Amino acid sequence: MATSLIPDVLDSAAVAILCDLERDGFRVQLEPDDAIVIVPRSKLTPERMTAIAEHKGAIKVLLRCLDPGVLERRDVMRAQIEATPAGYVPAFLFRSDVPYVAGRCFSCGDGLQQFRVGRCWRCALAWRLAARMPIPADLADALDGARVSA
Ligand SMILES: [Zn+2]
Repeated sequence: MATSLIPDVLDSAAVAILCDLERDGFRVQLEPDDAIVIVPRSKLTPERMTAIAEHKGAIKVLLRCLDPGVLERRDVMRAQIEATPAGYVPAFLFRSDVPYVAGRCFSCGDGLQQFRVGRCWRCALAWRLAARMPIPADLADALDGARVSA
């Protein structure tokens, strides 16, 4: 059987880690500064903390997939797929009135962290979700550009 060259976070161990945390009553969210916050942290076992650390990138991407802005874009793009004749691919644009310029997402118009032509992380995740494409664990970080980490 052929395997995808891109590992999909939806197939990763991160999905089970997040589901288990939710089942056990933990609240997990991604902060604007990209930190994963888990409450109550004091109830995390060392084994669980190790598993979370090992799959941190995939967990972040999964949490980003739940971002309301991503889900809104996904729904618009999924409707575009349904409205497109078989054999054709829609442009996967969140808005149709956005200029194609460096420094702005050409799909939604949001500012990009780098001066380049492209999609923001929300639009990039949304079209992959809409088209059911694999979502690499480092996609969001790659799109955001180099984050400065201590
Ligand atoms: Zn965008």
